[in-house]
Amino acid sequence: MTEEKETVAKSERTKVIWAEASSWEHDYLTEQSKAAGWDYSFVDGLAEELSAKDRKAVQVLSCFIGSTVDAKLLDSCPNLKLITNRSTGYDRIDVAACNERGITVCNVPRYGENTVAEHTFGLILALSRNIYQAVDRAKRGDFSTDGLRGFDLYGKTLGLIGAGSIGLHVIRMARALNMRVLVYDVRPQRLMAEVLTFEYADLETVLSEADVLTIHTPLLPSTYHLVDAGKLALMKPSAVIINTSRGGVVDSAALLDALNSNRLAGAALDVLECEEVITEDRVLLEDDTVSPADLFMVVDSYKLMHHPKVIITPHIAFYSQEALQRILATTIDNVKSFLAGNTVSQVRESTVGLATEEEAK
Ligand code: NAD
Repeated sequence: MTEEKETVAKSERTKVIWAEASSWEHDYLTEQSKAAGWDYSFVDGLAEELSAKDRKAVQVLSCFIGSTVDAKLLDSCPNLKLITNRSTGYDRIDVAACNERGITVCNVPRYGENTVAEHTFGLILALSRNIYQAVDRAKRGDFSTDGLRGFDLYGKTLGLIGAGSIGLHVIRMARALNMRVLVYDVRPQRLMAEVLTFEYADLETVLSEADVLTIHTPLLPSTYHLVDAGKLALMKPSAVIINTSRGGVVDSAALLDALNSNRLAGAALDVLECEEVITEDRVLLEDDTVSPADLFMVVDSYKLMHHPKVIITPHIAFYSQEALQRILATTIDNVKSFLAGNTVSQVRESTVGLATEEEAK
């Protein structure tokens, strides 16, 4: 091919940039990009760290949960046509600004309902049988059993808040263990209750009867601190609480207080309030917008992390081989469908602040 022809051929190929790409993603994305004939490149960092050259060239941008895509970034990418986010949540993407500029936004609407549910059950079992403490002790050669007596799940009541895609899988698993399941949801699905054999109840009943409480609502204005001091006071002192939804659904200060005063037996948390501040020192040190109120929450989250009655995992409920593979496969499908003119998984506006309890009813 002559140099001129090569230039033309290259310029006709869609320029795809895979931002925030981890090394494990490279092989699959490379293979798929090559097969599709895209002019692709990887950027390890965030979308906002793209070079001026990349910004000028990019037509399809794919990012993960850390990138902030705002009007400023969009205005520096004159050829951008599609942003395809490799996660379900897209609250860091200014969808309205994309719409105004004719840029399509796609996400991965489903990839790991069973995955998150399985992790949730891992945490339930870890709490009910003190597995974390037991493993830690046995590894040190200490085979004493003091303080390791657990409790059976068979016949106990699972209280569940938010029986959507993930919650329903948790219910399925709980019923397989012969747990009674009581659910609070603003949008009850009566048919699912019949099929999976569980009952709906009001929030107060769910809280007061649960031996194990697990939360699966999105973080919305109506669910922020849904489980607060008043709600925790309704729970049995022998109960445990599991949160794999979002940190903000549970009031950390109230949870700490309940654990410290023996009004709750334990907690297993995959998510923490202000976890982005905890995981990225950069945010704490460089971002002047972290408010004093948020700093108090960070301190409470640190206290929870180190609390003897609390098990923490670092927001990995979604993180299985199969779920990650589904994320990548959907993302490739999003790009191909968009380029073929039949876009799938398009998001048109941010959900943050839209799905209030009233609207959900
Ligand atoms: P979903 O939308 O399918 O289900 C959410 C359910 O919550 C719905 O049934 C809805 O009616 C209910 N709900 C909404 N507002 C409520 C309220 N005020 N009170 C009671 N119920 C309410 O969502 P999903 O796919 O099951 O995911 C749930 C959440 O799990 C996500 O929003 C996300 O925050 C979290 N999540 C965490 C991880 C992780 O790795 N830890 C991964 C994926 C999702």
